[in-house]
Amino acid sequence: MRKWLRRTGLNEAAATGSLATLRRALAGDGSLLDRATDRLSYAHDASHFHLVPTAVATPNDAAAVGRLFAAAKAVGIALTFRSGGTSLSGQAGTTGILVDTRSRFRSIEVLDDGLRVRVGPGATIRQVNARLARYGRKLGPDPASEIACTLGGAVANNSSGMACGTTANSYATLESMVLVLPSGTVIDTGAPDADDKLRACEPALYAGLGRLRDQVRHSPVLRERIEQQFAMKNTMGYGINSLLDFSLPAEILAHLVVGSEGTLAFIASIVMRTVPVLPHTRTGLLVFDDLAAATGALPGLVASGPVSIELLDATSLRVGQRDPAADELLRTLAVDKHAALLVEYQAATRADVDELAETARPALEALPIIGPRTHRVGDP
Ligand SMILES: Cc1cc2nc3c(=O)[nH]c(=O)nc-3n(C[C@H](O)[C@H](O)[C@H](O)COP(=O)(O)OP(=O)(O)OC[C@H]3O[C@@H](n4cnc5c(N)ncnc54)[C@H](O)[C@@H]3O)c2cc1C
Repeated sequence: MRKWLRRTGLNEAAATGSLATLRRALAGDGSLLDRATDRLSYAHDASHFHLVPTAVATPNDAAAVGRLFAAAKAVGIALTFRSGGTSLSGQAGTTGILVDTRSRFRSIEVLDDGLRVRVGPGATIRQVNARLARYGRKLGPDPASEIACTLGGAVANNSSGMACGTTANSYATLESMVLVLPSGTVIDTGAPDADDKLRACEPALYAGLGRLRDQVRHSPVLRERIEQQFAMKNTMGYGINSLLDFSLPAEILAHLVVGSEGTLAFIASIVMRTVPVLPHTRTGLLVFDDLAAATGALPGLVASGPVSIELLDATSLRVGQRDPAADELLRTLAVDKHAALLVEYQAATRADVDELAETARPALEALPIIGPRTHRVGDP
């Protein structure tokens, strides 16, 4: 609270009045807590930052978020969304008002026999995938934190994992979103009249998106830069490739929100296309003398079609050695400058994965690896 008072120049009575304004805005559709215990329990997420919020709001629905936006603007305080709280860079923490978006927005509706799914932003990736499993489908984005992170957080961060790359990440598999804009306007970008509604309710935003789209499309330099950046997995920030990929401002807006870290709009609901579960796997840990040998092997390995390749440096190998379930080769290796690649092939059937492994064999046999050339079989 003290930091907020310093920043806003408010005295304590005015600050208390501001919180009362926010509480009134929720109008019973949620809570606003400012006891020390509530604030301190939200002061940490998975990042290194310790930011004690002034209060914690838990709105029940999109309309309540819209009213909260208006009230926060009126009293001059920022809202920051916190979902699973697994972000590593502090983007889900604040000394302003922390909005808990995990507790209430947890619905999961499977559509079209699992080909699509409508999800509240507070449902965890694991919960959604558990519902999709019986259809042999799953979400594309696959961050390693899937047990605790939510789809809202994954979309807002454009989180990736080992397998989704740029072809099955949030941007690539997003169909539509219900967004609450800072003005309070609620837009379902999947509705047939979404673009008309955006133009009518947010004329300046609509025109601005159109201008940006045209500017990027008419500049070969910008086009080339964006195409190059977004062909790579490790590009972050607003999904500005949407200015090239989509024409309608409502669709551009939905895809700009991917990677926006809560700075453009509140995501109230998300429809995602799903990807097939590939249950048959062949996994190998390839150990090399050093990092250069491991990375030198990548072109041939990538061409052999694995779903993921994970690099382990010497420190990671030493950590892995402490696992009692680790392979004999790993446990007995005198790790010096060694590095390893954990390579996995996946397919829908056993025959397909065997064929993949067989096709990859020449590439694997040509590599200067240490130890046996065996792999682990994973069949359901
Ligand atoms: C052990 C571990 C492993 C991880 N592995 C990976 C990995 O493999 N790949 C990867 O990319 N990341 C990884 N992460 C980082 C993090 O888990 C992911 O980015 C995750 O998707 C964040 O989701 P969350 O629900 O925790 O979101 P939060 O951390 O709560 O929020 C993330 C961002 O989204 C915003 N936000 C949340 N909800 C909404 C909403 N409804 N509307 C608008 N904005 C919203 C927040 O303000 C914040 O900016 C890992 C983290 C940990 C701790």
